[in-house]
Amino acid sequence: MKNSCGKCGGQGDFEDKKTGKLIECECQFIRRIAASMPPYIRRAEVKSDHILHPVVGMVNRSIFIRSSWQDMKAFLKVVMFKYNQKFIRITSDLEIKNVFLGGSSRRAKGEDFSGDVFNNVQDLMQDPDLVIIELNKIGYANKAAAGNLREAIDIRVSKDKATWLFSDHSNPFTESSVAFSNHVWDYIIEYFKIIDIPRMIHVKSSVVSPFAEVSSPKEKPSKESSIPEIVPLKESNDSLDPEVIDNPVSSSLSVYERAYSGERKTKGNFKTSSRLNKRNR
Ligand SMILES: [Zn+2]
Repeated sequence: MKNSCGKCGGQGDFEDKKTGKLIECECQFIRRIAASMPPYIRRAEVKSDHILHPVVGMVNRSIFIRSSWQDMKAFLKVVMFKYNQKFIRITSDLEIKNVFLGGSSRRAKGEDFSGDVFNNVQDLMQDPDLVIIELNKIGYANKAAAGNLREAIDIRVSKDKATWLFSDHSNPFTESSVAFSNHVWDYIIEYFKIIDIPRMIHVKSSVVSPFAEVSSPKEKPSKESSIPEIVPLKESNDSLDPEVIDNPVSSSLSVYERAYSGERKTKGNFKTSSRLNKRNR
């Protein structure tokens, strides 16, 4: 439980020699941010290619991302570290549908419910600095789903607020998706830049073995081709933002990764997460 940080001795803060003020140690900062993440993101494997990827710099833009879920989790982890002051919400077309149906309202959840309550779609969509919407999460036919999705996205677009739509390589948003309509697709291609990200993490397991390259399964063929208009990522001025490299947050990230790989072996350091784990599992 007690961490063995060389800088603060596990205190979580240390005295600045010049000013005499207490400063939050990097190790404490990392624990604090990590504790605020959903466990599936906190545990995501992050490679330097994720940290340096131009998509990480697009937090103020409306983009439609096609990538693997593993890569998406890694991007979200980097984004949540780098922009830890931002209010970021991860939702889905399924949650949007449920909010429209009233299933997330105070009335439905009851007075004692302490989790998130959304009385209407504005509650869900309007406040965050960045909303990430996982697409194709709806399993059953629902005539209103596409209209609901469009209306929810429009709350963001009309206020010029950044939104990331996410289409998973292994569960892509296509013409056969419940929330798909030509209307919503036209809307998406009008307002969203499409970003295609080939798979970057090739192993299923989060444990990277020295034989990872050899044993990694072949990528499943995706049926995504039914969506037209593949706009390749071309803006090189977005890429390799030097801030990403020099920013103390990204160096924190590497520290975090080191600390974290330690946790995987010793199962000790990151106790802050256990409360979140219980709630979300
Ligand atoms: Zn420390």
